[in-house]
Amino acid sequence: MKEKADIGLIGLAVMGENLVLNMESKGFTVAVYNRTTEKVDKFMNGRGAGKNFIGCHTIEELTANLERPRKVMMLVKAGNPVDALIEQIIPHLEEGDIIIDGGNSHFPDTMRRTEYVESKGLRYIGTGVSGGEEGALHGPSMMPGGTPEAWPFVKNIFQSIAAKVEDGTPCCDWVGENGAGHFVKMVHNGIEYGDMQIITEAYQIMKDLLGMNYDEMHDVFAEWNKGDLDSYLIEITRDILGYRDEQGDPLVEKILDTAGQKGTGKWTGISALDLGIPLTLIGEAVFARCLSAQKDLRVTASKALSGPKANFEGDREQFLKDLKDALYGAKIISYAQGYDLMREAAKEHNWNLNYGGIALMWRGGCIIRSKFLGDIKKAYDKNGDLENLLLDDFFKGKIEAAQEGWRRVVATAVMNGVPAPAMTTALNYFDGFRSERLPANLLQAQRDYFGAHTYERVDKPRGEFFHTNWTGHG
Ligand code: NAP
Repeated sequence: MKEKADIGLIGLAVMGENLVLNMESKGFTVAVYNRTTEKVDKFMNGRGAGKNFIGCHTIEELTANLERPRKVMMLVKAGNPVDALIEQIIPHLEEGDIIIDGGNSHFPDTMRRTEYVESKGLRYIGTGVSGGEEGALHGPSMMPGGTPEAWPFVKNIFQSIAAKVEDGTPCCDWVGENGAGHFVKMVHNGIEYGDMQIITEAYQIMKDLLGMNYDEMHDVFAEWNKGDLDSYLIEITRDILGYRDEQGDPLVEKILDTAGQKGTGKWTGISALDLGIPLTLIGEAVFARCLSAQKDLRVTASKALSGPKANFEGDREQFLKDLKDALYGAKIISYAQGYDLMREAAKEHNWNLNYGGIALMWRGGCIIRSKFLGDIKKAYDKNGDLENLLLDDFFKGKIEAAQEGWRRVVATAVMNGVPAPAMTTALNYFDGFRSERLPANLLQAQRDYFGAHTYERVDKPRGEFFHTNWTGHG
């Protein structure tokens, strides 16, 4: 074992433990510390026994055991603990050393911390780590951003432990300055909300509109996982639908229908509102979770309010094909919107984001991993300045092919009173996006009528503003 460790890690909870075991398995020596030091001893005598770890009981001991430039990675509860830890670590570091935050920090915090740590002559990395505890152990998707000069010193460690795509390329590359890594991780989580929502809508349509049983639904998802929709989330949905409890019943039927959330979808929606980007599908996915959480109110409303009774009379086989198209079309919209948000944020914060590289980082190791991300990478490799994914030839062809079935699904769901909010909002976005003219002319007239907000005219140059006295008085 080396005398000094390649990297130090603070926070031996699920993520930290698994990530250091992953690092060690790739040949790195890791110094480990946890605030509750019994966890260090437990680890050193348990999962870490006989391996290349240096167990430490203080931060000072941890930093003293690191090769220079020192790399100290925190994997602790996001929020105040990260700021508190930074204060405790700084006195034990020297110029050029690197502090890394691998937790789910909000990107504005990472922007602030990067500036602060750099002001102390140190370097900072905020990295998204996706894939949960299994990913941390076997290969996560990693999205690092922060002080660019820090990257060469951690690149080898990060890329060695990250998930790899089929050709061995790691799902980890430099994302950009200051908070860019955590921003991209946040958008990843928002996209995860969207992907999950459209899958649940397909499930509800199969169950409540088509009256399918769990074996049938399992088989459809198994089939879908072989084509364009091939992805981790479709795969686990297939397995969940096939899972039976001790009574032989589908376990998912017995799970209370109230969705939890930790806030990263909400952050993504807030960021879109701040930047003025129509991120409608992810927004709808967050609100769908909020509606699901109003369980008691929904129970009351279900007794008070009536609607159509779902009754499907068409060709079921054809409708299942349509449903696959609806899922695929909505998914394209969700990623187009997510990339739109990243482009705008990059402009706002002067980040030089590598969009194809981001698709590659999400291609493996994380919850949204899918074949589809390979196609997104190709689109951005072809044209790094692509303004919107829908304008790429491949996706243009795919969405045009999907729209007929997708429209039938949305219309049928609406007529039968089965909610499909994300699939519907995505289709509305598609129709709005491809409209040369929207009814915002009337909206501008209304604003001018009641608030003298003025308007531009189609027959005059842009930037010339007009006001009308709409009531004709005075
Ligand atoms: P966690 O439950 O979020 O945090 C527990 C760890 O934080 C413990 O090591 C705890 O030390 C430490 N901690 C809390 N407050 C502290 C403070 N003030 N000073 C020093 N240490 C403090 O752990 P986790 O689930 O492993 O997640 C770690 C980070 O990764 C989080 O940001 C999380 O959001 C992110 N993440 C988690 C997952 C996942 O699947 N769990 C996936 C991706 C990202 P003590 O033992 O002393 O309490």
